[in-house]
Amino acid sequence: MLYAQVHLTLPAWIHDQIDLAQRYPGDEAKVALAIALSRSNVEHASGGPFGAVVFGPDDKVIAAGVNRVMPHTTSLAHAENMAYMLAQQRLQTPRLNEALSPITLATSSQPCCQCYGATIWAGIDRLLIGASAADVEELTPFDEGPLPTDWVGELNKRGIEVVQGVNREDARAVLRSYGDGDGARY
Ligand SMILES: [Zn+2]
Repeated sequence: MLYAQVHLTLPAWIHDQIDLAQRYPGDEAKVALAIALSRSNVEHASGGPFGAVVFGPDDKVIAAGVNRVMPHTTSLAHAENMAYMLAQQRLQTPRLNEALSPITLATSSQPCCQCYGATIWAGIDRLLIGASAADVEELTPFDEGPLPTDWVGELNKRGIEVVQGVNREDARAVLRSYGDGDGARY
């Protein structure tokens, strides 16, 4: 049978953790939410230890994402990609900052090579990162893939500000608990 559609979802618990009316002022509050989602995703066994959130200029959530690779047997279903796709559907534009600006993505861990590419085209203005790619590779079995040597500079050239190491130890703690776990691997 030729498949002609794909259907991706966030786990049902996401509704209990996202309040669209709440403001998350400042970089730390935004990344803290992404990390909380990454932790919940592990605790609920609903995907890998990664979370990401798209915020609008009012510091409110536009969309959220968690890793859904194994539940959906889809290598594209990383947290950042889920958040971008859902934000694009909500705002009805493939380039988010053509609808609202500035747009911020907060992610529990540095985008992998796939999500790095998606970040270039998604139309965001700021990228907030918790754990580094080196942290991910140190604490989990995941390969983050190759990036341009000057990956920050390439984003800066495209108008995207990058802030690294936000709440890094909290993000590392989730990765460590996942990496140390002997339960299901996502
Ligand atoms: Zn990724």
